[in-house]
Amino acid sequence: MNMSSSELERLLTTSDPVAVDELMAEACRKRDEIYGRRVFMRGLIEISNHCRNNCLYCGIRRDAQCRRYRLSKEEILDCCRTGYRLGFRTFVLQGGEDAWYTDERLCEMVKSIKTGFPDCAITLSLGERDRASYALLREAGADRYLLRHETADVQHYGRLHPAEMSFDHRMQCLADLRDLGYQVGCGFMVGSPYQSIATLIKDLEFIDRFRPEMVGIGPFIPATGTPFEHERAGSVELTLRLLALIRIIHPHVLLPATTALGTLHPTGRERAVAAGANVVMPNLSPRDTRALYAIYNNKLATGSEAAESVADLRLRMQAIGMEVPVDRGDFKS
Ligand code: SAM
Repeated sequence: MNMSSSELERLLTTSDPVAVDELMAEACRKRDEIYGRRVFMRGLIEISNHCRNNCLYCGIRRDAQCRRYRLSKEEILDCCRTGYRLGFRTFVLQGGEDAWYTDERLCEMVKSIKTGFPDCAITLSLGERDRASYALLREAGADRYLLRHETADVQHYGRLHPAEMSFDHRMQCLADLRDLGYQVGCGFMVGSPYQSIATLIKDLEFIDRFRPEMVGIGPFIPATGTPFEHERAGSVELTLRLLALIRIIHPHVLLPATTALGTLHPTGRERAVAAGANVVMPNLSPRDTRALYAIYNNKLATGSEAAESVADLRLRMQAIGMEVPVDRGDFKS
C-alpha cells in the first residue's frame, strides 16, 4: 500500500478543503496518465429483480413486496441491439440471484450476445454462483464479473446480511472469479449502517491486496420496506474522497461514477469523474422495467442516466474535459 492506515484515516476525516482538492487532483493525474481523459460507457441491463437473498439494505430482497419481472433472451438481445446502435461496446447483465437463470439459459444468452456483437465485452453481475457455474459462463464468453464484497469486515458483513449469507463465501466467489480469468470487480456502499472509518480502511486495504480490475462504490440509499428504510443515506462527499483514494492506491482500476451518486446529487457523476472515476453505466433496460429494479428509493433511470440520452451524457462529459469513446474500455495493466 502506498499509504499508511493513519494517512488514510486523515484523508477520510479531514475538514481541510485544500487537502481534499489536492487528493482529487492527484487522483485525476493518476487516471489521466493511464487512461487519458476518457470515460468508458457500459450499458446496464437489469435482467431480473427476483432474488433469493434477503440483504437487509436491498429494495429487491426476497421479502420485499415489489412487482417482480425477468427479461427473456430476446428482450436482452433487443437491449443489446439498441445499445450497440448508441455506441455501447460493453453490456452489463445485472440482476438478483434468480434461479430461473440456470447455467444453461445464461450460457445460451452469453453465446448469443457474443455471436451478435463480437466486438463487445460482456460483464455479468448476478451474485454468488458456484465455481463450476462461473467456469461455464466464462467458457461461454463472459469477460468480466462484478460482485461487490459489500464490506471487508466480517462483523460488519454479518450486520448487513441475514445469517444464511456468508462473508467467506462472498470472498471465495471473488477468488474463484479471479482464478477463472475474469476481469473482476468488487466494491461496497458508502455509509451503509454500522460502517465506520475502521471498516472503510479495511475496504481500502482489501482493494490494495486484491487489486481488482474494477471497483464499484456508491452511497447507501435507504429503500422503503427494508429493515434499513429509516437509516440515513451515505454521504456524497465521503464517496468522492473514497473514489479518489481508490484511484490513488490502485491507479489502473476502472472506476464507475455510479447511479447512486447521480441519484443523490444532480452533478454527482461529474463530481465523481473529477475525483478519478472513468466509467459510466447508463441504463439500457427496457423502459417499463426500469422502475421495478428499485434497489433503493428514487433511483435515477432517466435523463443522462438513460442509455438513450448518450448525446446528453457526452456533452456533460465534454463540458468537464472528458471524451466518451466508442470502446470496450478494457482494463490496462
Ligand atoms: N445480486 C447481485 C449481487 O449481489 O451482486 C447484483 C445485484 S445487487 C442489487 C447490486 C448492488 O446494489 C449490491 O452489490 C449493493 O451494493 C447495491 N445496493 C443494494 N441495495 C442498495 C441500497 N439500498 N443503496 C445503495 N446500493 C445498494
